[in-house]
Amino acid sequence: MSEAVHYERVQEHLENLKLFASLNELASLLEAGSREERSVTWFLDELLTGKVTHRFERRVAANLRLSGIPIRKTLDTFDYEAQTGVPKRTVEELATLRFVHNGENVLILGPTRVGKTHLAIGLALKAIEHGHKVYFLTLHDLINKFRIARERNKLHYMHSSILRADVFVLDEVGFQVLERDDAAFLFEVINKRYVASKSTILTNNKSYGQWHEIFPDSVLTAALLDRLLHRANTINIQGDSYRLRHCKQARLPDLTPQEVPTK
Ligand code: ADP
Ligand code: MG
Repeated sequence: MSEAVHYERVQEHLENLKLFASLNELASLLEAGSREERSVTWFLDELLTGKVTHRFERRVAANLRLSGIPIRKTLDTFDYEAQTGVPKRTVEELATLRFVHNGENVLILGPTRVGKTHLAIGLALKAIEHGHKVYFLTLHDLINKFRIARERNKLHYMHSSILRADVFVLDEVGFQVLERDDAAFLFEVINKRYVASKSTILTNNKSYGQWHEIFPDSVLTAALLDRLLHRANTINIQGDSYRLRHCKQARLPDLTPQEVPTK
């Protein structure tokens, strides 16, 4: 068979295998290979690396789209000087994603607007960048989805989609008091992920001692904390809100109720 026929058949094979990115690169790679007198192995390596990279990038894009992350907040844009309550070294260690490989949890505690969601999303995006699947929900959305799924007899789908994620982010725990069924469902979710050694990142504006205020039953609260804390990294932020801090740094007056203009 002549070289031209081989070339045509390779093109056809790549098309049949739907390796369109490789098909696009074929001519220029062959040309570079012959110009630089490269080996056949070099050529295959280049062609397949291109394909693998392309496939990985598509997976990352799909994982980001499906993650439910509501807003892009990266760890790079987190200002540690503005929030001295956040240990940079702990965040850097978490950013290595060892916690995902070890199936550890990350608990981010602190009052509102201190950067809990920012950090949770930053870590989640880092995990996505490295090819992991993430599922992000606020507790409020989790409970709503639970109630709908229960009504439609689809709870097993919900459990499997939460369990499929390498990292499950549960944001805004602490804002609502849970009813018994909702709390039992939450326990089941956390317990299933614990048994499967899969990471959960949870943000809560209540300290551990106050968790009983959100759950209807102290036994359940203890069991939930037990599962969450068994393999856990805690970031406990005890600072001012980010906005308040910025006001202070810029020497702007804090808006106290007396200073709010009245009509
Ligand atoms: P929380 O979840 O603790 O209520 P957020 O993460 O939603 O707070 O933070 C509120 C806003 O302030 C967000 O826009 C967030 O990006 C920003 N923010 C908070 N802390 C920091 C920080 N240390 N550096 C940069 N942005 C911050
Ligand atoms: Mg938040």
